[in-house]
Amino acid sequence: MQNFNNIIMSVFGGREIELPLNIKVLMNLKKEFGLDEISYSELLKKVHCDEQSQEIREFIKNEVRKILYECKYCPLHLADCHTQKVPGEGSWNSPLMLIGEAPGFEEDRLGRPFVGRAGELLTVILNKLNIDRKKVYITNVVKCRPPQNRTPLASEVKACSKILELELEFISPKVIITLGSVPLNYFKPKSSIVQSRGQWIYERGIWIMPTFHPAFILRQGGEALKRVKWQVWSDFNRAIAKVKELKPDYDFN
Ligand code: SF4
Repeated sequence: MQNFNNIIMSVFGGREIELPLNIKVLMNLKKEFGLDEISYSELLKKVHCDEQSQEIREFIKNEVRKILYECKYCPLHLADCHTQKVPGEGSWNSPLMLIGEAPGFEEDRLGRPFVGRAGELLTVILNKLNIDRKKVYITNVVKCRPPQNRTPLASEVKACSKILELELEFISPKVIITLGSVPLNYFKPKSSIVQSRGQWIYERGIWIMPTFHPAFILRQGGEALKRVKWQVWSDFNRAIAKVKELKPDYDFN
């Protein structure tokens, strides 16, 4: 039987064409698990279903990581401050995804998202909500550390969206908490975080709650600190309540 690549090549007159990354992952999944008879839409349903096997989840996670580790879509991997790509981590079955901006020094050093001071604060917030950090999915819009921790450029966000889109497609979260203005603007361009925080956005069938980045909380003092802490706490509580409404059986512990 002709394989999918050959069919595509014959349709395009023998020319090699670049397949979308999600299709590449699904093709490899079909091959690995002998699922040739299943259509791509059925396969995606299988990937999203709750009873999906741990093996399928692990396979997809590893495929996406392979694509990430080989990625040269933008020049950030050449930056002097960059030592390694920082993949998302947590549950690939979670109805809740947290999205930050880009790795900082500690994240780049350890190859894990949200492990510096801001990450510690994020873990404290989750623990206070009785949520095990491992049961949510935590990632950044951009996966390589920008020089001097500057805000990622629009071109870098666009390039790295190829990876984020794979995470969104295969994890299929019900609720996203965006941390800071970069992820907010990914879903709702030209938005101000000050005006948008705490306001639900409903995009692509996902409820998105924008809030401040934990690093922003750490930069506050006095009355501003109290106010921002309360705002972030309230945004997290509303997002968790929404997850519990949409996915009451999901165990966060
Ligand atoms: S920032 Fe993203 S797009 Fe750019 S090289 Fe790193 S992984 Fe690739």
